[in-house]
Amino acid sequence: MDLGLTGRVAIVAAASKGLGRAVAEELAHEGAHVAICARTTGILAQTATDIQKCSGREVFHRALDVTDSSAVGAFVSAVEARFGRIDICVTNSGGPPSNSFKNTKPEDWRSAVDQLLMSTIFFARETLPRMQKNRWGRLITITSSAVKQPVDGLLLSNSVRAAVTGLARTLANEYAADGITVNNVCPGYTRTARLDHLAATISARTGSKPEEVFASWEREIPARRLGTPQEFAAVVAFLASERASYLTGTSIAVDGGLIRSLL
Ligand code: NAD
Repeated sequence: MDLGLTGRVAIVAAASKGLGRAVAEELAHEGAHVAICARTTGILAQTATDIQKCSGREVFHRALDVTDSSAVGAFVSAVEARFGRIDICVTNSGGPPSNSFKNTKPEDWRSAVDQLLMSTIFFARETLPRMQKNRWGRLITITSSAVKQPVDGLLLSNSVRAAVTGLARTLANEYAADGITVNNVCPGYTRTARLDHLAATISARTGSKPEEVFASWEREIPARRLGTPQEFAAVVAFLASERASYLTGTSIAVDGGLIRSLL
């Protein structure tokens, strides 16, 4: 299937590692011009070089924190200046820490809102008007299966990602007539550094070994295994494509069947 991504310009936020990196790789392989950002210059530059080498596409990169609205604005302008327009924006950031309600301070809540919700708003504010000019666009938010079924211990993620989902659904309605689709992709347990960190946190709290934590997750998943970042990225690439032109306002779980709900 030709996804029609050749020559499209795609921004992927928080993409030096994990899911963001896999999405950037997939879009570059499909022929898109890709621009990535993350906080640490060294790892980000290496990621850009790796993707460039294996896809043969130029990858634009800039170190920034996605919670900084002016840095996001300058990045989107620089991508437009380099590639001429913006077609696709995939929002992403690191996940907030796991904690109980009792031990979560007001500043932890504020930081989770900045990290998950405000960062998405900053990218949407910068990219949607540019997509609107071309009457074509794809805004894709990366959240979590927690928006369909809260995960025990992930209080901040469960709460704030629900707001991102509400935002995405609302933007889908507002921008559909402009040829712009807005969809939310919800990873289940996918093997990345984030999951290793989560397993280590649970292991420290419960005394079980990290491999036991992974095994307990695998038992929960009908597919009986964790997902790979590439399996996740394939769904994002489809949503970004020409072929997904009538698909908007959805929240799609890529979770091996983890979420048991009908819809
Ligand atoms: P990861 O920790 O492996 O990678 C996160 C990436 O975001 C890195 O490139 C990091 O440098 C970058 N980043 C973090 N904070 C940033 C900031 N403030 N500004 C710019 N860049 C920043 O995580 P991942 O597994 O790829 O997960 C991506 C998102 O998906 C996270 O929000 C995570 O909570 C969520 N998620 C992951 C899983 C999973 O199983 N991996 C499941 C559900 C949800």
